[in-house]
Amino acid sequence: MNEPGLHDRFLRRINYLRLSITDRCNLRCSYCMPAEGVSALDHGDILSYEELLRVARVAVSLGIEKIRITGGEPLVRRGVVGFVARVGALPGLRDFSLTTNGLLLADAAASLRQAGLRRVNVSLDTLRPEVFERITRRPGLERVLAGLAEARRVGLAPIKVNVVALRGVNDGEILDFAAFAQQEACEVRFIEFMPSTADAWDGGQMLTSAEVLAVLGSRYDLQPTTNGSAAGPSRTFRLPGGGLVGVISPLSDHFCGSCNRLRLTAEGKLRSCLFSQEETDLRPLLRGAAAAGALAAALRDAVHSKPERHTVGEAGQHKCGLSMSRVGG
Ligand code: SAM
Ligand code: SF4
Repeated sequence: MNEPGLHDRFLRRINYLRLSITDRCNLRCSYCMPAEGVSALDHGDILSYEELLRVARVAVSLGIEKIRITGGEPLVRRGVVGFVARVGALPGLRDFSLTTNGLLLADAAASLRQAGLRRVNVSLDTLRPEVFERITRRPGLERVLAGLAEARRVGLAPIKVNVVALRGVNDGEILDFAAFAQQEACEVRFIEFMPSTADAWDGGQMLTSAEVLAVLGSRYDLQPTTNGSAAGPSRTFRLPGGGLVGVISPLSDHFCGSCNRLRLTAEGKLRSCLFSQEETDLRPLLRGAAAAGALAAALRDAVHSKPERHTVGEAGQHKCGLSMSRVGG
């Protein structure tokens, strides 16, 4: 392969890194973690901002062009705005975003924008306060809505709202969310519930993208957008009068063939596939006396060993094995 950048054995170009900066969270979403939360990592086990930045810098030098900051809830980690500014300044970065549950966004949006963040994805599974509390086990819908409003005011754009579609929980709100996308001129994406850890997985709640699209199609003439590459793994449709809706189907129609991602957990484990148990521990390289170039070699090796596809959802399927709050979703 002579083309510059990182390519795996299946000729996929790997140009997207998701950096989880904390395993902690101020919500307890039922599909992500148990009610008592996951036992928090010791502070010393979490990569420092300096260490995370070293990984980001090497990754960008190898051909990573897109970075997303995630968690846990990234906005609960102290100093996140300063970190965002340093990542955003890396030359060669074309897309820089953050995924948040939105609870702390109203206060942070302006400084994040000023620090160079370009856009946010906000996870919001319901527009009803009582359902919000049932899903996240905490109150807070009003704060998330205020966060979305502030993100829009300060020019973080485009704003994408991620909704995990859950049968019997928020499946009655699919059309409400489409109306929300129209009103707010934003993009709402419905994500299939993925098996992560045993206690967070209830297969009966999983609603497929086809089911979501059937509901949307009952009201709207959905116009597919042609902007496939910008949309990433989502299939996106324009709504009449403004706004977009999309579906992300990691299980029913997996997009492994075009997967371009690497993930780094907060404790420094590099994963080339969300559902693979294989990880490369970068922490010893970051903290020991590793030779210059060892980090780059580890990133290249992880890309090389990226599996062709996941088999979750098939017979004998396995789960992600880690809470999404650890892997960053
Ligand atoms: N706390 C932030 C948030 O919620 O946006 C960032 C981390 S969270 C792990 C990232 C994304 O993963 C969220 O959009 C969340 O809805 C999604 N997620 C978590 N567990 C999931 C599951 N079991 N199936 C599908 N999506 C999941
Ligand atoms: Fe926290 Fe995000 Fe997991 Fe919800 S999905 S518990 S907000 S990490």
